[in-house]
Amino acid sequence: MAAKRKGTGLSLAMAIALFSMQASVVLAAEGPERNYDVFVQKLVEAGLKNNAAYQLLSELVARAPHRLSGSADARKAVELTAKMMDSLGFQQVHAETVMVPHWVRGQQESAVIVQGDTRRDRSLAICALGGSVPTPKNGITAEVIEVHSFEELAEKADEARGKIVFFNRPMDPAKLHTFEAYGGAVHQRATGAIRAAEVGGVAALVRSMTLAHDRVPHTGVMGYQEGIVKVPGSAISTNDADTLSMLLKRNPHLKLRLTFDCETLPEAPSANVAGQITGVEKPDEVVVVGGHLDCWDKGQGAHDDASGCVQAIEAVRLLKELGVKPRRTIRAVMFMNEENGTRGGKAYAVAPQRSSEHHVAALESDRGGFAPLGLSVQGDSALVAHVQQWRPLFEQLGTGRIEKGSGGVDISPIVATGVPGFGLMVEDYRYFDYHHSGNDTLDKVHPRELEMGAIVEALLCYLIAEEGLPPGTFHETPSQ
Ligand SMILES: [Zn+2]
Repeated sequence: MAAKRKGTGLSLAMAIALFSMQASVVLAAEGPERNYDVFVQKLVEAGLKNNAAYQLLSELVARAPHRLSGSADARKAVELTAKMMDSLGFQQVHAETVMVPHWVRGQQESAVIVQGDTRRDRSLAICALGGSVPTPKNGITAEVIEVHSFEELAEKADEARGKIVFFNRPMDPAKLHTFEAYGGAVHQRATGAIRAAEVGGVAALVRSMTLAHDRVPHTGVMGYQEGIVKVPGSAISTNDADTLSMLLKRNPHLKLRLTFDCETLPEAPSANVAGQITGVEKPDEVVVVGGHLDCWDKGQGAHDDASGCVQAIEAVRLLKELGVKPRRTIRAVMFMNEENGTRGGKAYAVAPQRSSEHHVAALESDRGGFAPLGLSVQGDSALVAHVQQWRPLFEQLGTGRIEKGSGGVDISPIVATGVPGFGLMVEDYRYFDYHHSGNDTLDKVHPRELEMGAIVEALLCYLIAEEGLPPGTFHETPSQ
């Protein structure tokens, strides 16, 4: 078995975990009289005794912490996860090449409130947004106009000319779901630089997309529009956004100097990585489980989305440990470039290998490695109802929520072809505290919570691989 292979380069911790698996191979729920209740208990025991997902996570973020597309660490992560899956005895371990954008953060990033006396200058915590052009070498020094919406900016267009446009609308704390709060604010980051340039602004400075109050700026992708001048875009920490707002009320003419030296390089070759247990009856029918291997460069991308990657590996590993020989293929995929292009997800959906395969489902974990709550199901009501029949099994894991919702960004291209999509739903109160920032590090991930996510994924993959899903269109007909 896997642990006896040589030269894998994996850590001692991994080797120990793999060794401990040798003794515990049990027969899974197989044969016509499947007992999935027993199977669920076996999954829990096998998962929680080792917390192997956390060991894989530790390895990945330690060896390849800054996995932004096109970077050296992204390349290392491709090699490392392929090695992990190979060491664990997965079948058909391979990389599928994809070209990715290559944006690089520079050496310096600063924002200084210029007081006319350098001893009184005050620094604010900022970072460049992904995809931004740099500022001139000596920075941009200008007055600041604070706005809370694009409508307000349009009203103040004359006033904004020549200024740094400061988008300071927080994520709405009244929203129960943090992803909804994020969705209601993130357009400031995504297109703020375009809107700023349209009114003659010289730069965009955006309140970080987080509900946390701290001095850590959160990056993320931003875009430009053809025909509109490219002005630099940056994020400011929430505490510093509040400070700047307060200082602007005292002195609307204060000046800020923004300096950062990021750059966009030519596109670079990268890859999705896959490994699987091949189905014994219907090998060409595939259940995909995945996460994205790339991440922003500020932290380690531990929650976003190294967690989703190692959970996919662990889900397949767990099924192997239980001796499962599924009817259909169960494939773990590490997608590349979710953060600034979705190139991996798009490439996977149309890769030549897909022409001889039929995907029966795609599952993604990309909401952080937190305690799982259940599954969001991207498909029609009939599909949701079908999956809800399995609720008693998921309730044994405390994850009985099965609701209509989105699967994930990386699987969206294959879901768009009619494949049912699933997303791992988690307790996400803290997700945006860490998301895209220096806070997203290994110490924020709890081994048991992470493992439980992998267990839920393993269960869903196994159920679908064994039972299939009912034929159907899976997509609601849009209402007229
Ligand atoms: Zn993500």
